[in-house]
Amino acid sequence: VFAAVQMAPRDPILGLNEQFAADPNPAKVNLGVGVYFDDNGKLPVLACVAAAEKQLLEATKPKGYLPIDGIAAYDKAVQGLVFGEGSEVLQAGRVATVQALGGTGGLKVGADLLKKLNPAARVLISDPSWENHRALFSNAGFEVSTYPYYDAATRGIRFDAMLAALKAAAPGTIVVLHACCHNPTGCDLTPAQWTEVVAACQAAGLVPFLDMAYQGFGEGIAEDGAVIGQFVASGLQFLVSTSFSKSFSLYGERVGALSVVCADRDETTRVLSQLKIVIRTNYSNPPTFGAQLVATVLTTPALRAQWEEELAGMRLRIRAMRAALVEKLAAAGVAGDLSYITRQKGMFSYSGLSAEQMQRLRSEFGVYGVDSGRICVAALNSKNIDAVATAIAKVA
Ligand code: PMP
Repeated sequence: VFAAVQMAPRDPILGLNEQFAADPNPAKVNLGVGVYFDDNGKLPVLACVAAAEKQLLEATKPKGYLPIDGIAAYDKAVQGLVFGEGSEVLQAGRVATVQALGGTGGLKVGADLLKKLNPAARVLISDPSWENHRALFSNAGFEVSTYPYYDAATRGIRFDAMLAALKAAAPGTIVVLHACCHNPTGCDLTPAQWTEVVAACQAAGLVPFLDMAYQGFGEGIAEDGAVIGQFVASGLQFLVSTSFSKSFSLYGERVGALSVVCADRDETTRVLSQLKIVIRTNYSNPPTFGAQLVATVLTTPALRAQWEEELAGMRLRIRAMRAALVEKLAAAGVAGDLSYITRQKGMFSYSGLSAEQMQRLRSEFGVYGVDSGRICVAALNSKNIDAVATAIAKVA
């Protein structure tokens, strides 16, 4: 059965990690993966998570199966975060939310549901996008194409072209949109541009699928979530995947969710029943621990306040690193307008460096970024930023 199996291509970013681990350079810096590190270059354990963990471990419970759609208190807390506590759409019972295995799991459960409902639909992702978007929707059986997004010339968004592509898409087309902190470019739409995107989705009869992997890393929890309110206000039906990997620094616990906004309570009940079939036939039901941690933090006022503060701390540290990078690049002699670095949102920056320059950064300076030019600003710190800026200046 396996004799003819071909070797699959390596995941480019995980392959980079292996290369990094094998590099003997003591000054090496890994800016490849999308992970937030603190100023000591360590993966943080949030204090609110540690407190919730202690609480849970002190009251050890039997490890039964969770319901197929996960912990009810968790799903409710996710809804509050994404749609606003007590919002009309929640009160009307128009949102089906299921716990999922990270943001990736939320996307896949949503993709599988959509494939069942409309097998002929096409999927549009941004050009460029998080690499797994294409692979995930292709594997779910969809034909995946792109809509224009990044403009290398202006280091901004090709907004008119994006809008035209959405308007020209066939009714029923699934459009994957980054709710905030676009991965890999760091370029986000303005609220006014979102208004036009919502209208285009509505006019063309598209199915928006919002990927929210970085809520709180852009401008703030509410600010980054505001786009959801715009979609709700339009009356459209749409999907939202949520990831807590970054915002709770819970990468390996696989904590995420999928929310589906429906027309009414009855439709929501029917959609939820189908979501449960997708989950049941894939992995039966989700794991307990990570979602318990997140639910505990989100529903305990003191821990919730602590989380918001810690998340703000991560957001502000990234911003400080962006500002410092601009300053240090300029000081190291990099000419031109570098303000795009501070304009970009979230963990990533599209540096504009070519694949060749990125390779030189690795081989000559031990600075590891993705060949697309993407660097993870959240992996910069006060100890490595000088070396990174000097290295970039040498290859720029
Ligand atoms: N969507 C985007 C845009 C991402 O960047 C990521 C994480 N790199 C995910 C989804 C997946 O998140 P998770 O690790 O929670 O599955």
